[in-house]
Amino acid sequence: MNKSKSDSQSQKTRIPIHVLEPSANLIREHFIYSKLRKLDDKDYQEIDIEEIKKQLKSIRETSLKNLESNVKNLTFFLQGKGIDTYNAKTSSDAASYIQKVLTKADLKNVCINNSSVVKEIIGDLPKDITVFDTYHASQKEIEDAKHLDLWEIPKISEDHIWKSFDIFKIKYKKPLEFASLIGANSVSSKDGSFFFVQHFNNISSLISQSKETILVVSLEKIVNDSEQAKYISRASGMFGLPSLLLGILSYDTEFQKVHVDELPKKFSKTTGTLENNLHVIILDNGRSDLVAGEFSEFLQCINCRACGSVCPRSLFMKEGEYRTPRELVLLNFTSGVEQSVSEGLYNCSLCGNCEIACPLGIPLPDFLLNIRNNAVAENLAPKKHMTIAENVRTFGNPYGRGD
Ligand code: SF4
Ligand code: SF4
Repeated sequence: MNKSKSDSQSQKTRIPIHVLEPSANLIREHFIYSKLRKLDDKDYQEIDIEEIKKQLKSIRETSLKNLESNVKNLTFFLQGKGIDTYNAKTSSDAASYIQKVLTKADLKNVCINNSSVVKEIIGDLPKDITVFDTYHASQKEIEDAKHLDLWEIPKISEDHIWKSFDIFKIKYKKPLEFASLIGANSVSSKDGSFFFVQHFNNISSLISQSKETILVVSLEKIVNDSEQAKYISRASGMFGLPSLLLGILSYDTEFQKVHVDELPKKFSKTTGTLENNLHVIILDNGRSDLVAGEFSEFLQCINCRACGSVCPRSLFMKEGEYRTPRELVLLNFTSGVEQSVSEGLYNCSLCGNCEIACPLGIPLPDFLLNIRNNAVAENLAPKKHMTIAENVRTFGNPYGRGD
């Protein structure tokens, strides 16, 4: 019975959706294997991180060269499969489209994952729509670990993490009265395969139970084929996992939280339908303007968040207010330089940690400096900084002393 539901669901969906998850058992297995047997086993090979970074760089450069054709091919492919597909120029276009989907389905509740592309859009949703954060609700699963000193946890090497990613099989259920809005890690333009990385079951639970499933992919996340899409998602999971373990205990959310186990209690079952409806938003939101300019390398980002955990700003900024270096740069393109200034652009010390941690070596400090130059040119830099600069120009010192 369950099997036929699942089959009919995948038939209706008609595009491959893959959720990658680091398997705790596999991490444990690799950890023990490498510790106990590596010395005796000549066939045991650790992964070559530099080779992975090289491969990653090459995939990202190729996909950006093909960005326009990749977007066209994906749109054509999805529409050919009968998937409701919308190319959104801006975040407010995407929000209007979502509102139409919700109105048609008579829904007011949207559940999200922890995706930055989703966060670009939700600020533009009408206020009568309630957004539920399923990612930070998963904190309860690790609250028991709060007594642990995180520095005492043995380092999980990249080798263990890389080899631990499994495809998580989605078991579709009768849909509930909510919509999900989920950002993809990477998508193949060739066969429309969507890849997601999850750590707490939340993405697979949302896809399997939402009445309307809205998948969002930003332009630069579309790559040539599913092998490349899988590689990028796996790398994003691997390079980002250490940041996740250190960051999850302190991050907060501005939305209501709902744990995915509580979805059936929170939302009633749908009547009259056994299958959910799938929609895809392909979001530009300023990205196509970056392809040929000085910030083009920024589009190589795989959103792994490795830059986030090494930034000293994370130590003194308040919970919920901290923006990772990557988010700070992105904010300039999605919300404007003024917003970047108000959310911490001038807190950056240009220490360079983020560029070193980035698996793609994206020059984030250079970008942040360029954005600050633009802020000065537009007279949007903080007054204190402008006064100091003026003092240096006039008096040759930052204090404004003429003697
Ligand atoms: S350069 Fe700036 S954004 Fe990057 S790690 Fe240092 S302080 Fe953070
Ligand atoms: S910029 Fe940050 S999030 Fe993007 S790939 Fe580099 S480290 Fe990862």
